[in-house]
Amino acid sequence: MGKTIAIANQKGGVAKTTTAVNLAAWLSLMGKKVFLVDIDPQGNATSGTGINKEKLNYSIYDVLIGGQDIKSVWVDSSLPGLKVLPATIELAGAEVELVNQADRERILRRVLDPVRDLFDFIFIDCPPSLGLLTLNALTAASSVLIPIQCEYYALEGVGQLMNTIQLVKQRLNKDLELEGVLLTMFDGRTNLGIQVVDEVKRYFKGKVYRTIIPRNVRLSEAPSHGQPVMIYDRRSRGAEVYYELAREVMGID
Ligand code: ADP
Ligand code: MG
Repeated sequence: MGKTIAIANQKGGVAKTTTAVNLAAWLSLMGKKVFLVDIDPQGNATSGTGINKEKLNYSIYDVLIGGQDIKSVWVDSSLPGLKVLPATIELAGAEVELVNQADRERILRRVLDPVRDLFDFIFIDCPPSLGLLTLNALTAASSVLIPIQCEYYALEGVGQLMNTIQLVKQRLNKDLELEGVLLTMFDGRTNLGIQVVDEVKRYFKGKVYRTIIPRNVRLSEAPSHGQPVMIYDRRSRGAEVYYELAREVMGID
């Protein structure tokens, strides 16, 4: 069976979506069957893979709240082998609507179970909070990938995230593993960046990816074109480093 990887960190702007989109895209270009699940009401992974939210009949909201069949909601991206479960702002209401549902943390898991075998990798792009949507992602996942921005206070909130992961393991998903920790937006010209790398490596011991994602303008431009970075600019540094990360995630050295 394939892996289901939740990309989580309750901090916004740490490159969760950038990582979800570009990892999913590279793995699909490498011939894997990939499913990108957008569970952030912002829907950035949806638009970032070129899906026009205004033209959608359904979204993940209808699957989680309305009981709509996932296969009638997912959409093909422009990349071969990459399907997307799109999110729209409608999902913002789900956090409240889920509160009174039985087994409210296990809804995404139940929805994904019947389709898991169709994919080599499922990525879940989490919102910037530790609310019910993220809990659903962590409960549905086999592992969690944590992006950390190489900035001041990089580790702030990480303790809380690790506590949440621990709680999910105890109560909802005992098999949840830490897939890896990804350092993002690294600026090698500053001492700060280098300090943060050391600090994060000390905190997470052997769990930090060898690939470190530098700041790269192409990575920040690609989403507004609705394209993963290697489609937007195949020769960019951003495309290259996410290729290296994809190989690491596949276990190729
Ligand atoms: P999150 O999903 O964690 O909120 P995003 O992936 O949306 O974070 O990234 C936040 C912003 O930073 C976006 O505008 C994105 O395009 C930009 N960004 C992400 N990674 C990089 C990078 N390595 N270099 C430059 N800009 C980046
Ligand atoms: Mg995001």
